[in-house]
Amino acid sequence: MTGSITQRIHQIQQQLPGDVRLIAVTKKVSVEAIREAYAAGIRDFGESKIQEASFKQEQLQDLSDICWHLIGHLQSNKAKKSLEQFQWIHSCDSLKLAQRLNRFAGELSCYPKICLQVKPLPDPDKSGWTISELLADLPELEQCQHLKIQGLMTILPLELSESEVLAAFESMRELAEKIAQQNWSHLQMQELSMGMSSDYQLAVQAGATMVRLGQTIFGERTT
Ligand SMILES: *Cc1c(COP(=O)(O)O)cnc(C)c1O
Repeated sequence: MTGSITQRIHQIQQQLPGDVRLIAVTKKVSVEAIREAYAAGIRDFGESKIQEASFKQEQLQDLSDICWHLIGHLQSNKAKKSLEQFQWIHSCDSLKLAQRLNRFAGELSCYPKICLQVKPLPDPDKSGWTISELLADLPELEQCQHLKIQGLMTILPLELSESEVLAAFESMRELAEKIAQQNWSHLQMQELSMGMSSDYQLAVQAGATMVRLGQTIFGERTT
C-alpha cells in the first residue's frame, strides 16, 4: 500500500460509485490520523469498541459533523452508552439486543439508525442472525418503534473464494429485497453495510451501500 491517508481516501472515493457511503474504520487508529481523514473529506467513522471510541470522540469534539458508526459486537450492558455515542449501530445482532436498544432509545428520546447483522454462511466466531432466524424475528423487530432499522450488515467468514464471497454478498442483497417486499411499515431495507478492505469491491458489485474500510485507508493494524 502506498501514499498518504489523504491519497488513499481520494483513490478509494474515485473507485466507489457515488451513492456508496465510505465509513473509515478507526479502531487502533490515532486521533491525528482521524483528523487527516476528516480533512480529506470523510465524515463517517466506524469504531468497534465503546471505550476506545469515547476516548477519541472526546478529543475530536471540535469536528462536530462527524457521524459515528458502531460496527463491533455490543454487550448488552453497554447498550445505553452506545446510543449516547453513536448515530448508527451496524452490529445489532439479536432480537434481545434490538429490544434493549429500543427501550433505551425510548428513555433517551432518540431514534438510532440500525443495521441488523446477518450471517449468510455459518460462522461460529460471529454473532448475528441466520437468514431464517431473522425472517422469524421480523414481526418483533417491527415493534421496536424507537429504532430506525435501515437495512442489513454482514461480516463474512475468512478464507472464502472470490466467487463464494460474491455469492454470499448477493444473498444478503436478495434477503434485503425479500424483506422489503413484505412491506413492513417500520423496517427499511435500503442499506447494505458490507465490505471491508479485503472484499469491498465484491460487496459493491453485489449492491453494498456502505463499505467499512480500515486498513486500506490507514495501513495495516499491527496490534
Ligand atoms: C475492523 C472492521 C472493519 C474494517 O476492516 P479492515 O480490514 O481494516 O478494512 C470492518 N468492519 C468491521 C465489523 C470491523 O470490525
